[in-house]
Amino acid sequence: MNVSFHYKGQPDSKGHFGPYGGMYVPETLMMPLLELTREYARAKRDPSFRRELDYYLADYVGRPTPLYLAERLTRELGGARIYLKREDLLHTGAHKINNAMGQILLARRMGKKRIIAETGAGQHGVATATVAAMFGLECVIYMGAVDAERQSLNVYRMQLLGAEVRRVTAGQQTLKEAISEAMRDWVTNVRTTHYILGSALGSHPYPMMVRDFHSVIGREARAQILKKEKRLPHLLTACVGGGSNAIGLFHPFLKDRKVRMVGVEAGGRGIRRGQHAARFKGGSLGVLQGTRTYVLQDADGQIELTHSVSAGLDYAAIGPEHSLLRDMGRTEYTYATDSEALSAFRRLGELEGIIPALESAHAIAYVIKQAPKMKKSEIILVNLSGRGDKDVMEASKHLKLPSSKGA
Ligand SMILES: *Cc1c(COP(=O)(O)O)cnc(C)c1O
Repeated sequence: MNVSFHYKGQPDSKGHFGPYGGMYVPETLMMPLLELTREYARAKRDPSFRRELDYYLADYVGRPTPLYLAERLTRELGGARIYLKREDLLHTGAHKINNAMGQILLARRMGKKRIIAETGAGQHGVATATVAAMFGLECVIYMGAVDAERQSLNVYRMQLLGAEVRRVTAGQQTLKEAISEAMRDWVTNVRTTHYILGSALGSHPYPMMVRDFHSVIGREARAQILKKEKRLPHLLTACVGGGSNAIGLFHPFLKDRKVRMVGVEAGGRGIRRGQHAARFKGGSLGVLQGTRTYVLQDADGQIELTHSVSAGLDYAAIGPEHSLLRDMGRTEYTYATDSEALSAFRRLGELEGIIPALESAHAIAYVIKQAPKMKKSEIILVNLSGRGDKDVMEASKHLKLPSSKGA
């Protein structure tokens, strides 16, 4: 690729990560996005913003999360030592609240009274409704009607938290349409409203800002592993939907050239059109919802259907910074299928007493394949992005367990 740019871990002023990223939005959205970019830059330089965020991350969200040596999993696989970064222990059960908390503090600074967000499976909607309730801000969550049907318990959770859930009936009635509706709302109500986007995706400044709010994962993990092992891990891994939990873990290790980083996408039912969400396997360069990156699309640029057993990995585009890091050879990507993720889901429960989110189970599935090929002296650090309580119903449709014995 014949582009010259300086990356050094940051995008340029228009949000380009090399040939990726940018601000591919209608003119009406440029004003609010530029205002947000300015305000975020100001907040980032302000020590009182950092202090406030650290305070709520510690006392409300539950940071720092432990870095746990999975002894039985390590022994069972017979290779590298496996550490789990326990984002599953955060309030609301996943990493998403790191970003929701950062953005709502920014919204308050900007004097916004109303919060909107999109959600697919409902996890980001729940995290957003939670922080909005906690600060007493009005909250509207856009959700595809099909998703709202599939995830009715999360709809109820958001409503319990005082949010209004608006069902979107356009197109496929899933995440992509929910994002489009949230953008439409934002343009109309921008004076009062902040849009909390849920992954390291969309137009600048979101990919950079969401990454920054999740980088606390990697900063903590780096300090924790140095304390426990007196050395860096050989391999970092995380699942990749939009890519926020992965980039949050990876970013603080970018300069540690010897640390290998592998993102795990959703292989679904296999790499066939419409059956997966592995953008680097079946995708090509395109623009989706504000950003230029790898997208699952057909020859005419029509967005393809995606599938994954885990709703959180089920999106047609990947965050733009991942595309650049992959071009640079700094990060690598693989995928795990539905059935590999389901078996990892079960294995981690049986061996460690931890039921992971089905999203996180994709990263565990990769660890199960990779650890036995590594030396016992080597270290794998995997991000456990969320807990699996939300997935128990879905898993029960696929995993047949021995029926309980009668007395
Ligand atoms: C939403 C979600 C993901 C995927 O989102 P990323 O932006 O790729 O991190 C992964 N794990 C869990 C538990 C989630 O809720």
